[in-house]
Amino acid sequence: MFQALLLTKNPEGATLAEIASLDEAQLPEGEVLVNVSYSTVNYKDALAITGTSPVVRKFPMVPGIDLAGSVAESSDARFKPGDAVLLNGWGVGENQWGGLAQKARVKADWLVPMPQGMDARKAMAIGTAGYTAMLCVMALQDRGVTPAAGPVLVTGANGGVGSIAIALLARLGFEVHASTGRMAEAGHLKQLGAAELIDRATLSAPGKPLQKERWAAAVDSVGSHTLANVCASLKYGGTVAACGLAQGMDLTTSVAPFILRGVTLAGVDSVQAPMARRLTAWERLARELPADLLEANTETIALDGVAALAPRLLAGQVRGRVRVNLGA
Ligand code: NDP
Repeated sequence: MFQALLLTKNPEGATLAEIASLDEAQLPEGEVLVNVSYSTVNYKDALAITGTSPVVRKFPMVPGIDLAGSVAESSDARFKPGDAVLLNGWGVGENQWGGLAQKARVKADWLVPMPQGMDARKAMAIGTAGYTAMLCVMALQDRGVTPAAGPVLVTGANGGVGSIAIALLARLGFEVHASTGRMAEAGHLKQLGAAELIDRATLSAPGKPLQKERWAAAVDSVGSHTLANVCASLKYGGTVAACGLAQGMDLTTSVAPFILRGVTLAGVDSVQAPMARRLTAWERLARELPADLLEANTETIALDGVAALAPRLLAGQVRGRVRVNLGA
């Protein structure tokens, strides 16, 4: 038997999140059984656990879109017992039981071998949010953005994606401007590497289609009017890597930044990202993220603290990353 967070729906349609004792026989099919040491609470997990949006496709569901641990059993030649592995996305925690449990049975194709210099604890201080931050940085670099081009804006700065994007970009030599609604966290954001702070209220209302050219590039985890204003404020030839919707899923903009300034809107998806891109992202994360910054940006909780934390995360009250210790 093992412990898991289990989501069910009551007759009124509300999502209930409770700790349950499960049997291995209840786990879904898959080639690899993983003893999960750590998982995390991402924005999407918080949506699933609170039932705020229809992230979960079938019930009962073990949430948790990422996990790290060691292989317990494998019928796939690529993995053997004891191997350290991690996993993000592929619908895990949405339509396949996920990482907020001491055991998970998953497809071998979904697993990333733990990169050198990384362990389960560090991997889940990064989690899907940090891995997505790296995919955003890679999207900017793929399009030729360099520190010489000018400052880079990061929105949702205190969030999981934003905080790690700041640390990654600063370490690469970029001048990072951080947009936040929590100026009280200025010290933390500067410690991560932000050179300048922007009050997010200056970006969150509808704005003009073209505005003063301020940033060479941006990592946006907020969407909505913020993303529209970011597009309108990029320098000529600028790129924004858009990955999130913390303000909203809407995007009301005009073609002006794209046809008059050659701006690129680069979409970033972590869930179905091809394995080669994942491996590159995780290898870079192992090399490029200083361990002390990661720890200062991470809160560790136990499985029984997850359900209470989820609404706080959606309310923007959590700073940085939340790692869940499964103790397996
Ligand atoms: P967090 O909740 O950790 O961070 C979101 C941050 O956005 C908050 O900390 C806050 O930062 C800011 N924010 C919150 N509400 C608003 C608002 N109404 N207006 C403007 N800013 C706001 O979430 P994550 O960083 O984990 O994820 C961020 C987004 O990225 C989510 O929408 C998530 O779904 C998405 N995402 C997408 C992925 C993909 O594959 N495309 C993968 C991972 C995440 P502050 O207090 O500093 O203002």
